[in-house]
Amino acid sequence: MQIKEQLLGLKPYQPGKPIEEVQREYNLTKVIKLASNENPYGSSPLAKEAIKEELDQLGLYPDGYSAALRTKLANYLEVKEEELIFGNGSDEIIQIICRALLDQQSNTIMATPSFPQYKHNAVIEGAEIREVPLKNGMHDLDTMLNKIDEHTKIVWVCSPNNPTGTYVTRLSLLSFLEKVPSHVLVVVDEAYYEYVGAEDYPETVPLINKYPNLMVLRTFSKAYGLAALRIGYGIANATFIRQIEPAREPFNTSRIAQAAAIAAIDDQQFIADCVEKNNKGLQQYYDFCAEMNLTYYPSETNFILIDFKRDSDELFQALLEKGYIVRSGNALGVPGSLRITVGSEEQNAEIIDVLKNFLK
Ligand SMILES: *Cc1c(COP(=O)(O)O)cnc(C)c1O
Repeated sequence: MQIKEQLLGLKPYQPGKPIEEVQREYNLTKVIKLASNENPYGSSPLAKEAIKEELDQLGLYPDGYSAALRTKLANYLEVKEEELIFGNGSDEIIQIICRALLDQQSNTIMATPSFPQYKHNAVIEGAEIREVPLKNGMHDLDTMLNKIDEHTKIVWVCSPNNPTGTYVTRLSLLSFLEKVPSHVLVVVDEAYYEYVGAEDYPETVPLINKYPNLMVLRTFSKAYGLAALRIGYGIANATFIRQIEPAREPFNTSRIAQAAAIAAIDDQQFIADCVEKNNKGLQQYYDFCAEMNLTYYPSETNFILIDFKRDSDELFQALLEKGYIVRSGNALGVPGSLRITVGSEEQNAEIIDVLKNFLK
């Protein structure tokens, strides 16, 4: 058998260590995973109720067009139904976009470090990857713009960026969109949209009317707390959505995911409460960093990247032995740092305690 050459250099995605494995390995009764930016408060009770109601329908395929969720979300976002595409997580939308646009003659531009799936999927399609290092933890949009040529098909803008938590301001994004040639798709990945508080963070959804080459990605996995169900969505010009739809699997989002997402949209109070608790949690880490003289990026997300300026695998290990799974920067392209998902007040305090003791 002959696998595509570009696949030979790739590894499957390495997620954080699973809870069960850590429990066994270190003989712990309680293990808390704060490694994948999941919501520590779970999801809305309304979503759980909606899931129960689907349990008698499991023999039936889901609605491949996600019509009910589409109507709900189109109303909520004030967009047209035809301007939406749903995926098995926004991960799948990234895959669909790459399948639909990239080939061996094309190139694609992204920041580094950023979310790894842009590169991963582009490599599989055989496209040339043009990575632009972050500048002070932020997207260097000018350099990204300069890398565009006639073979460029997609530019990825992760805002807020994973793993730094930084965002692209309204002014920089608008001036970027004005300059990007119309043959290039700009994907703005807003997986952490619900957490953002910055005043100059752009509202990108209305911009799809002005820029037919703009696509916004969002997900129910992070603030909505439905990561297990795998459902995310893209918002873009209706013609473009229609053109990429054939690259989507016919029943790519499940009946349960669609029902839960519809219910979750109705519970914005749950999101507001989680965001408020998250902001307090971030403050715990900011105070810790100030006290210990550590540098970090102010975060518009539910995670924080802290620069410890030492072997982050050692810190990762110290937390692991106490039952806390976080992400070592070594795996994320930021050696010396840890990316910690903000947990409950108590969890944050415990993590901070372990770190303080270790650093002393
Ligand atoms: C978590 C994450 C995603 C993927 O989310 P899913 O919808 O669960 O696939 C996409 N982009 C970024 C930046 C993320 O952090």
